[in-house]
Amino acid sequence: KKPPARKGSMADVPKEFLEKIAELEKEFSVSTEQLKAITKHFISELDKGLSKQGGNIPMIPTWVVDYPTGKESGDYLAIDLGGTNLRVVLVKLGGDRTFDTTQSKYKLPSALRTTKNPDELFGFIADSLKSFVDEQFPEGVSAALPLGFTFSFPASQTKINQGILQRWTKGFDIPNVEGHDVVELLQKQLKTRNIPIEVVALVNDTTGTLVASLYTDGETKMGVIFGTGVNGAYYEQVSDISKLEGKLADDIPSSFPMAINCEYGSFDNENAVLPRTKYDLQIDAESPRPNQQAYEKMSSGYYLGEVIRLVLVDYHKQGLIFKDQDVTKLNTPYIMDTSFPARVEEDPFENLENTDELLQKELGINATVQERKLIRRLCELVGLRAARLGVCAISAICQKRGYEAGHIAADGSVFKLYPGFQENAAEALRDIYGWTPAKKEDYPITIIAAEDGSGVGAAVIAALTQKRLAAGKS
Ligand code: BGC
Ligand code: MG
Repeated sequence: KKPPARKGSMADVPKEFLEKIAELEKEFSVSTEQLKAITKHFISELDKGLSKQGGNIPMIPTWVVDYPTGKESGDYLAIDLGGTNLRVVLVKLGGDRTFDTTQSKYKLPSALRTTKNPDELFGFIADSLKSFVDEQFPEGVSAALPLGFTFSFPASQTKINQGILQRWTKGFDIPNVEGHDVVELLQKQLKTRNIPIEVVALVNDTTGTLVASLYTDGETKMGVIFGTGVNGAYYEQVSDISKLEGKLADDIPSSFPMAINCEYGSFDNENAVLPRTKYDLQIDAESPRPNQQAYEKMSSGYYLGEVIRLVLVDYHKQGLIFKDQDVTKLNTPYIMDTSFPARVEEDPFENLENTDELLQKELGINATVQERKLIRRLCELVGLRAARLGVCAISAICQKRGYEAGHIAADGSVFKLYPGFQENAAEALRDIYGWTPAKKEDYPITIIAAEDGSGVGAAVIAALTQKRLAAGKS
């Protein structure tokens, strides 16, 4: 969606606001020169992540060592544990680049994100699977159903049906899961309930997106998520994954491709290149995992509204805005999710009437027209910054792999719903490369909407895995 052009004049905005806007523009803008410098540093950090000594970007080998041919077929279950929902999908792969899906969504009780008992989370997943299977297979099943488990967190894998959680991201914080195999935790809950399901593959959402899109579109080079979190996956040559040296079975020769789940949300944890503002530093310091996910904290949906909130709180404390208003709600961390700035940017009215309504409804604040104009500019800057920083990962991987053209399959709430994001991202990529075509569709590397990675992707990976196993391969 393209946001409406800002028709409103800034003529009535007082001088002290214009000064703040100028400051914000300076702090939140990312120049083309900066994008290029960030890309350059990104490339060296990606390489470090693949090396034996490792670096800040995990670059997790996924053990997905085949490209889908589009001929994969059969029935598979897939689950996707997201921020707000658990999605359960029955995927019927057609064997001719087509598929059919039947799905149900189960609302994740918000307390589960931070429950003290991990069995509650995995028990919830197992219960949801049980209702889904009972509904879809009322007569029961003759053999265990193969399941692809999409788990959108950094999990180390030494094989495909395993994943040791490195650390929670996106505000999840449940004890006794970090350092444990999440496949085992789920399988245990399935077993207690006698549910005939076997987890055959653990899949990151980016890997699923890569493989699902490749199943239908051979030009796909990467799967990326611009959502609650940010991340990407691509195929690397096994011979270039030096940390795997000596760890590979003979049936995975070094000429093979292997999908890498980059986990690049942690790019620049070392604080070398990203232009952090004091608000970014505050988000990091107050998060349950400081010094982690530095790049994600500046570009993903989980944090966009929070950066904006912190600026507003700061301005209120300075006595600049919301004078004599009750700011109790504004002072609540994470009260503004990404839909807040998205709706502000969508507001078509000169006087930002929708924004007025939104501020009243969500925060109990009556803002003046001038204050709303300041907020609008702030949202634009934060949204634009997310898009510009967000594509540096893409340019880095494409440059590293020598991809000069192709499709980047993208998914996630910010990519799909945030006004102007797709245009801003395409333009930032154009700036980095210096492309000249007038339309973004004509750029050599285009970011396009992905196929359903967490459903279809997980199913295709489960199918590829079963095929390898049937052939007696590791
Ligand atoms: C997680 C990744 C995931 C990304 C997008 C990040 O916080 O670490 O595993 O791919 O969010 O969902
Ligand atoms: Mg998701």
